[in-house]
Amino acid sequence: MAQRKKDEEAVSRRAVLGRAAAALAVLTTAGAAAGCKKKALMCDGPSVTDGVLTAEEVQLRKMLLYTDLAQTPDKACINCTLFVAAREADTCATCKVIHGPVHPNGTCKIFLRKPEGGAPT
Ligand code: SF4
Repeated sequence: MAQRKKDEEAVSRRAVLGRAAAALAVLTTAGAAAGCKKKALMCDGPSVTDGVLTAEEVQLRKMLLYTDLAQTPDKACINCTLFVAAREADTCATCKVIHGPVHPNGTCKIFLRKPEGGAPT
């Protein structure tokens, strides 16, 4: 009788350990997948520019219809002669006209295409 109880406890412990290992594997995989997801770069909007820019600078961005995503890639800031690239990857760049952070894929009303074969800025 005592042996049977010990066997049942051993099976039960094995079952619990097996389930715990499976759950840990699922959590580890999900965590790794979530960790690989890059947060999208944001260079506009109240969460980025509030307290960073003056009201006039914010107004200028609005007047020039600055947006973080150009409708067509050929009109993206990165292709504009007024674009100043960031020193570090995955960070906002700047612009010679619009103050504040600028997204490489952004654009505005005064987009000025870089000359063909021009040096990158
Ligand atoms: S002028 Fe406009 S399109 Fe050109 S880099 Fe500045 S924000 Fe981008």
